[in-house]
Amino acid sequence: MSLLSGSARQCVALVIEPLLEFLYPSWCLFCRVRIPPAQRHLCRPCWDSMPRLSPSDSLFEETRGKICVDGIVDDLVSVFVFEDQGVIRSLVHAMKYQSRASAGVMLGAEVGMNMITRGIDGEIIVPIPLHRIKERERGYNQAEMIARGVSKMTGIPCVPRAVVRTKQTQTQTMLTIDQRRENMEGAFDIGRKYAASMKNATCILVDDVITTGSTIVACASVLKGAGAQRVVAASVALAR
Ligand SMILES: [Zn+2]
Repeated sequence: MSLLSGSARQCVALVIEPLLEFLYPSWCLFCRVRIPPAQRHLCRPCWDSMPRLSPSDSLFEETRGKICVDGIVDDLVSVFVFEDQGVIRSLVHAMKYQSRASAGVMLGAEVGMNMITRGIDGEIIVPIPLHRIKERERGYNQAEMIARGVSKMTGIPCVPRAVVRTKQTQTQTMLTIDQRRENMEGAFDIGRKYAASMKNATCILVDDVITTGSTIVACASVLKGAGAQRVVAASVALAR
């Protein structure tokens, strides 16, 4: 529930946001052109240039093959192809490291739209958690921001503390697939208050970018261990 009343929220939307826009004009974070107040973070051409995935793309098929092998993850939703030099990289980077939390909500809405188009539903949305020390450093969990966008679009409730990160894992970029799996072992646990609500539920497990899928599989197996019937992995992008 919002802390602001309806009229206070309207005041923010009608008065404070345009004022902030006047004082601090927005620029596309990729190409640096000025963008209108209604647009956030990217100009239209940059947003439209982000390569979109379809379930018949080979990257989508390969990733689904990797993460849906042993019945832990049941399905995959993802919207964009993550490119090392692309617009999507700048947007994800800004969301994670430049305090652009609202970019996460915006991207989450795209994920939610994709779910609706494909007829994918669920009872609970769970973001991949950060370790509490990392979340404190960053100020927020970017996967939770994406999950909030998915929830806004689909109406499925988001439960940010359903799973907790119990181990501070090292960054996975330089690790092989086997090392990543080992790195993620015992990294997650079910949130104590939420064990019962997982029983027979379809969980939408949300992350920013899926590469090998070791993080999402480790987290999904904790949900399945708590009795979840289905786990759908949902990410903004897939990386090769
Ligand atoms: Zn641009």
